[in-house]
Amino acid sequence: MPQKSAYEIAVEQFDNTLPYLHLDPGVAEIMRAPKREMTVRFPVQMDDGTIRVFTGYRVQHSTAAGPAKGGIRFHPNVTLDEVKALAMWMTWKCAVVDLPFGGAKGGVVCNPKEMSLRETENLTRRFTTEISGIIGPMADVPAPDVNTNSQTMAWVMDTYAMHTGIQSSAIVTGKPIELGGSQGRTEATGRGVMISALAALQAKGIPIQGARVAVQGFGNVGAISAYLLQDQGAIVVAVSDSRGGIWNPNGLDVRDVLRYKAETGSVVGYPNTEAISNGDVLIVDCDVLVPAALEGAIHAGNAGQIKAQVIVEGANGPTTPEADEILNGNGRLLIPDILANAGGVTVSYFEWVQDLQSFFWSEAQVNARLQQYMSSAFDQVYAISQREQVSMRTAAYIKAISRVAKAIQLRGLYP
Ligand code: NAD
Repeated sequence: MPQKSAYEIAVEQFDNTLPYLHLDPGVAEIMRAPKREMTVRFPVQMDDGTIRVFTGYRVQHSTAAGPAKGGIRFHPNVTLDEVKALAMWMTWKCAVVDLPFGGAKGGVVCNPKEMSLRETENLTRRFTTEISGIIGPMADVPAPDVNTNSQTMAWVMDTYAMHTGIQSSAIVTGKPIELGGSQGRTEATGRGVMISALAALQAKGIPIQGARVAVQGFGNVGAISAYLLQDQGAIVVAVSDSRGGIWNPNGLDVRDVLRYKAETGSVVGYPNTEAISNGDVLIVDCDVLVPAALEGAIHAGNAGQIKAQVIVEGANGPTTPEADEILNGNGRLLIPDILANAGGVTVSYFEWVQDLQSFFWSEAQVNARLQQYMSSAFDQVYAISQREQVSMRTAAYIKAISRVAKAIQLRGLYP
């Protein structure tokens, strides 16, 4: 059977939730596809003097609950299909944690690893110009994603200011602190994963002290989740990056593994560990599994071998619908991406709020408010899952879709 595309999966997840909601079919139809899809083709002069034409996308899935919100990725494999799926997931993610945002996503088909800094800056500025008609602090607020970072956001902000004459730091989130970025943003997604994992362990009656954790992907989300869970008393027994995995049943010193990766470029080869494959990290003996690398990492072929009782999706879309069914059937508690990794967009929301007020919070304030938002969202989703006897994924979709549907109904149709 041909593999489903990301957008096909996103629509399938939406359709699977509808039977629980009793929505007006017209309102469901509004949410079933993006509100706006923009495709742009634009030239950039490369360092060798040649002109290259790039393709980029900005998709706004919904603005019913507020300005659209979502990252911009630079990657050779970016497609409109993928951007549409990610935009839809952003709508649900914002709704599940009660942020006053809709969902969007952007991408440019390019390989920034083969481009100079100047070429990347020019590409960013021209792409921003091309989509400037639909973005804005009260319209659509981009953020970093794969291969984009705080510097990219500084360029987007500056380009927007050059066009509009408005010095608004609230046009993007994930900015450098010096330009209105928020304290705590770097750790936010990992911190949200940690908060979700703790709540899930509590629901399962497993103490965090001594709980064994495995993490696939040792980047921003994976590495930070790993050391924050270790700080809470968990034992991290396995981690991996794109080059492979390492395992030590007695536990790893996660911050030292980070230092080793910074020095050598990979976790592989870390002393006193056994080398395992990326796939093996998912099936080692552990209590908590955090897939924090790739889409589709947990599939029908490996879901049955997963030993963890609790799975917390750090990555977006790491579990296929078939694997979801297997894990549910095996009684595993899976905390879905739209809830588990919503810490990043929640602190993006805090950044936007601080920028609009030009009044900034301490890291302790940011972390305390993040804890409040994540715990409250977890509790609400967990209560729905118990009441409806459904998985946490379906419960999260029930909460998110009904919130957006309510916003659509209250606003009514124009004209
Ligand atoms: P990152 O680039 O910092 O880290 C990705 C990690 O995955 C790296 O360690 C990389 O080596 C590893 N990796 C790549 N291919 C792999 C493979 N085949 N097997 C195992 N590991 C592999 O990216 P990130 O920001 O940590 O994002 C990871 C995931 O989390 C993505 O799905 C992203 O969309 C999602 N996410 C990120 C954020 C955020 O705030 N950064 C928020 C929400 C969701």
